[in-house]
Amino acid sequence: MTMPSTLCPCCRRPKGRGKYLCAGCWGVLPGFTRRALNRRDSRAHPRLRELHRQLAAGVPLSEIRVSP
Ligand SMILES: [Zn+2]
Repeated sequence: MTMPSTLCPCCRRPKGRGKYLCAGCWGVLPGFTRRALNRRDSRAHPRLRELHRQLAAGVPLSEIRVSP
């Protein structure tokens, strides 16, 4: 992990512990992306990597999608 877990990887503002993004950025993600990211199953970590890869690539939050 290259980013402190307490900062939003998108806007660098503080986020809740255990949350992927701050509340503001989370609310901009498409609903199906939020639902997929909320599933804490064996695919949760690969999904998080997909999210971070797209954030690093500059994909708009509203267009980010991860594996179901
Ligand atoms: Zn944010």
